Amino acid sequence: MNERYSRQILFPGIGKEGQAKISSKHVLIIGAGALGSGSSEILARAGVGKITIIDRDYVEASNLQRQQLYTEEDVVEKLPKAAAAEKRLRAINSDVEVRAIIGDATPELLEELAAGVDVMIDATDNFETRMAMNDVAQKYNLPWIYGACVGSFGMTFSIIPGKTPCLNCLLRAIPLQGMTCDTGGIISPTVQMVIAHQTAEALKMLAEDWEAVRTSFVSFDLWRNQYTSLKMSKAKFAGCLSCGEERTYPYLDHENMTKTTVLCGRDTVQIRPSAAGKISLERLAGQLSSLGYAVKGNPYLLSVEMEAERMVIFQDGRALIHGTKDLTHAKSIYQRILG
Ligand SMILES: [Zn+2]
Repeated sequence: MNERYSRQILFPGIGKEGQAKISSKHVLIIGAGALGSGSSEILARAGVGKITIIDRDYVEASNLQRQQLYTEEDVVEKLPKAAAAEKRLRAINSDVEVRAIIGDATPELLEELAAGVDVMIDATDNFETRMAMNDVAQKYNLPWIYGACVGSFGMTFSIIPGKTPCLNCLLRAIPLQGMTCDTGGIISPTVQMVIAHQTAEALKMLAEDWEAVRTSFVSFDLWRNQYTSLKMSKAKFAGCLSCGEERTYPYLDHENMTKTTVLCGRDTVQIRPSAAGKISLERLAGQLSSLGYAVKGNPYLLSVEMEAERMVIFQDGRALIHGTKDLTHAKSIYQRILG
C-alpha cells in the first residue's frame, strides 16, 4: 500500500497517519455525472476505504465531453452511470470497496445510506436532492461538500454540522437556486475546478485535518477570470429549519416527495412508482415486442421507442420519458406501457 500511495504519504498534510485514516473511511457520492465521476475517480485513486455512488441516469453521447469515467462503449450499451462507474472504479483501484446504486436519491434512501458514512459529496444536478442531502447531513451529523457548476461558473462550500451554516442558511445569503436546471452548456474545466475543491476538502476531512477545512464559500468564473471567496461565519441562521434549534428537516418529509419530475435542462420527465418493487425487464420486453414496440435493452434497463418519445424503464419501475416536458402526457405514456 505504501508504494501506491507514497506521494500522498510524503505530503505533510496527510502522512502515514492520514493515509491510514483515509483508507478506513467511507464516502457517499450523490450523482455519477460530471462531478461524481471526477470525484469518485480521485477518491478511488487516493485509496478511500469504501465509496458508495448513486445515480438514476444512463450514459449518453453528450456526457463524454466531461464525464471522465465513461467511454463510447458505455454509450452504445446504454449502461446506467452507476454500473459503468462501478466497473471503472474497480479497475482503477481494486483495494477500494465500491458500491453502486442505480436509482433515485430520495430522502428515504439517503437516510438509509447515511449510516456509517464519513463524508458525503454533492454531485447532483438538482435542488430538491441537495436540500434532502442537507437535511440528512444535519440529522446524522455528517459533513458534506456542496458543489455546482454551469458554463464557466462554479461554486463550492464545505458544510460541517454544528460548525458551519448549512445549505438552507446559505439560501438566505446567496441565490443558489438559479444554479440548477440550466441549459446554457458547460465546459469541462469548470467541472474539474469544482471537483478539485470538493475532493481537496474531502481529503482534509477524511484525514481528519479539520483545521485545514475551508470555511469560506468559493465561486469562480474561468472564462471571465474571476475568483471570489466569501466568509460565511455570519450566515448561520438561528431559526433555520434544517440546522436551527427548532429544526424540522423539511426536505425529509417523505410525503412531500415529488414522484414526477422534469429532469434538469433536458426534454425528459422522470416517473417514480409509488409502490417499490422489482419488475422483470425480460418479461416486459417480450410483452412490448409482441405489441409491436421497438425494444432494446441490457440487464439494467429497457429502452422503448414510440412515435414521438422514447421511454427508458429501470428494474425498480422508475422510468425516464424522453422527448417531453409535459408531466401529464408523460404519466399517460407511463400508464400505457406499465399499467
Ligand atoms: Zn441552516
